Amino acid sequence: MKIDGACYCGEIAFEADVNPDSAFICHCTDCQVTSGTAFRTIVPAAAETFRVVSGVPKTYVKTAESGNRRVLAFCATCGTHVWACDEGADPGRISIRAGTVRQRERFAPRRQIWCRSAQPWLADVGSLPGVEGQP
Ligand SMILES: [Zn+2]
Ligand SMILES: [Zn+2]
Repeated sequence: MKIDGACYCGEIAFEADVNPDSAFICHCTDCQVTSGTAFRTIVPAAAETFRVVSGVPKTYVKTAESGNRRVLAFCATCGTHVWACDEGADPGRISIRAGTVRQRERFAPRRQIWCRSAQPWLADVGSLPGVEGQP
């Protein structure tokens, strides 16, 4: 499925061809901190299908617990995290941040990883009282 997306301010834009059933949630503590929230939802894309349409992201290289070095790409203007990939000539799989995908409602996550660091209150979110907009 062809997708496209952009950061909040629109400076960094991309397109890719992805499997709509491949989205997943990562509960790792790195994702919690770097996303600024409880977990991250990721849409993986093969590097050969991923294309930056506009902008040059700012990058930060993080070393995972596994020793894996991942390049985090984000917009230097609005701060949106847009994707992550491996360091070096072969970017490997591109981990697109699901919230930046225009078609994001099509990407219900199919699995979760790093559940051992998942926030303990997540299971209760569905039963919290809610309103349609800002109260
Ligand atoms: Zn931006
Ligand atoms: Zn993670």
